[in-house]
Amino acid sequence: MVRYINVKSRTRTEFIDITEKIQEVIKEAGVVSGICCLYVPHTTAAVTINEGADPSVQRDILSVLNRLIPFEGDYHHREGNSSAHIKASMLGISQTVLIDEGRLVLGTWQSIFFCEFDGPRHRRVAMKFVTDKKTP
Ligand code: ZN
Repeated sequence: MVRYINVKSRTRTEFIDITEKIQEVIKEAGVVSGICCLYVPHTTAAVTINEGADPSVQRDILSVLNRLIPFEGDYHHREGNSSAHIKASMLGISQTVLIDEGRLVLGTWQSIFFCEFDGPRHRRVAMKFVTDKKTP
C-alpha cells in the first residue's frame, strides 16, 4: 500500500517542511519500527532533509540553487521550466528515513522538506513503509 500526503506550494521555488505530516501518517498507519520511503512523483520537485530550526538555511540553499541554475538560460526544453527539472534532479526525488518507537529517526536539527521548483502547484508525496514491527 502506498500512502500520499498533499502539498500546496505558494511560490515558484520553496521548501515546505513536511516532517509533521509524515509523522501523522506513520501514527495513522501504526508503524512502530521500520523504514519510510518517500517518493516525489513529479519532475520539477524534490525531497531533501536538512536543518529545520533556522529558516535562513532553507533560504540560503534556495538562493544558491537559483543562482547556480537561473530560471532563464540557454535551455532547449520548450516548456520553459528547465531550471526546475535540473534542480529536481540535483536534489533527488526520494529519501529513506528510519522509524523507531513510532517516530521518525531524525537528528535534533533535521527536518524533511518538499522542494518546489516550479510552483505554485498542488503536489503529492508518496510514502511506503517497510515494517519489522506493528502495533496490534
Ligand atoms: Zn518541463
